[in-house]
Amino acid sequence: MIESHHWNEECGVFGIVGHPRAAELTYLGLYALQHRGQEGAGIATFDGQRYHEHKRLGLVSDIFDPGTLGRLEGSSAVGHTRYSTTGSTVLPNVQPLVANLHHQAVALAHNGNIVDARMVRAGLEDGGAIFQTSMDSEVVLHLMARSRHRETERRLADALDRIHGAHSLVLLAGDTLFAAKDPKGIRPLCIGELDKGGWIVASESCALDIVDAGFVRELDPGEIVGLAPGTSPRTVRRAPEGERAACIFEAIYFTRPDSILFGRTTGAARVALGRQLAVEAPAPGADVVISVPDSSNAAAQGYSQESGVPLGHGLIRNHYVGRTFIKPSQGIRDLSARIKYNPVRDVVRDRSVVVVDDSIVRGTTVRKLVAMVRSAGAREVHFRVSSSPIVGPCYYGIDTPDERELIGARNTIDEIEKIVSADTLRYLSIEGMKKAVGNGSGFCTACFDRDYPVPVAERLDKAILEKS
Ligand code: AMP
Repeated sequence: MIESHHWNEECGVFGIVGHPRAAELTYLGLYALQHRGQEGAGIATFDGQRYHEHKRLGLVSDIFDPGTLGRLEGSSAVGHTRYSTTGSTVLPNVQPLVANLHHQAVALAHNGNIVDARMVRAGLEDGGAIFQTSMDSEVVLHLMARSRHRETERRLADALDRIHGAHSLVLLAGDTLFAAKDPKGIRPLCIGELDKGGWIVASESCALDIVDAGFVRELDPGEIVGLAPGTSPRTVRRAPEGERAACIFEAIYFTRPDSILFGRTTGAARVALGRQLAVEAPAPGADVVISVPDSSNAAAQGYSQESGVPLGHGLIRNHYVGRTFIKPSQGIRDLSARIKYNPVRDVVRDRSVVVVDDSIVRGTTVRKLVAMVRSAGAREVHFRVSSSPIVGPCYYGIDTPDERELIGARNTIDEIEKIVSADTLRYLSIEGMKKAVGNGSGFCTACFDRDYPVPVAERLDKAILEKS
């Protein structure tokens, strides 16, 4: 019996067909996607006869070496880098998942949360299915195995029709790579092209750049595409009509700024968010704008451009510290915030400082930063956030804590301003966020307004999902 189900994952996926060094390119792709998951990673290749796989817990750079990559033979591969909530760090939960379906062997890598996976799994188990992992992704393979269709692509479409939530996935079946997004298009996924007829699918376009692949396009919501070496991408299923809900938080925080999302780099989107923030929440009399590196660098730049207040590098980040967010206890989290950032005294001393961050989750970082910047000599500290207050957990694959731990869910903005001891604290409006990130519609903003685009069964809150 597997101890617990941890459905909550942020991940990076990568798939490639038609390249003699598929494993090496996948390794590089995962390297570029490391920010999407640091818990474990794996690669599965297909050599025309059989699959080879290697997966471990840890960072991509620690998991693979020339020896392991050399053993991963074949010209097609899928790779995965994983991030989940604390406690589920076990090897069986590292992807890709390789399975011998009776009609064909396949390898699957998935990003996103299937919100009804528990119920679907219970139904499958009642029918005799035996699960090997505690990952939601595994239900896709079981549903494919049970599909009455003959072709892999129809089986995949059939399986995806039976689940709900977020899935951006790659499925390798022989020398064909399938890429699929859920009907709302919640998580990102894009297609790239190699010389000599090879194809790549990746969570973010930064994984295409690292292997010199050309960016073709982002996948449309609900679309399934088949990619085989030397032939054009084949649409298995077109994007259905209906409301789209791409995760806006990917653009605000999660995606790398050099990746293309919603038609432009997220770096450009973040500059626009910062500009909009300066319009909505000016800080009269400010002397300098500083960012909370690295994720809010572009937003701070935008704030500075729009307001005319000069940008300074007022906080230095220690890159050898893990993200504070994922540490298990509050005590350690506080310590991490202190060791992660250090103010540059000459930039902030005797000045009225605008600190721009992209988001406030529990409020740990903002509290520490305000105190730090003040003790480094700032005259005034004005905190500006290039997103709205986070008021609800994400059920679709971003690691946000329980509502009780979200400072924005329990307090008004004025209260937060007092709690963190900022001279002023302001957020961006939801409308402002939508306007800055794109055309203003088609986004999932559930963590900011609790308007969940895919219904989540009431009893399937995050805590319940993590038990059983
Ligand atoms: P907190 O300290 O809990 O308020 O978290 C806010 C800080 O964490 C901000 O500086 C964000 O850039 C960053 N952040 C926001 N969301 C996440 C996430 N899902 N994982 C890791 N860090 C995050």
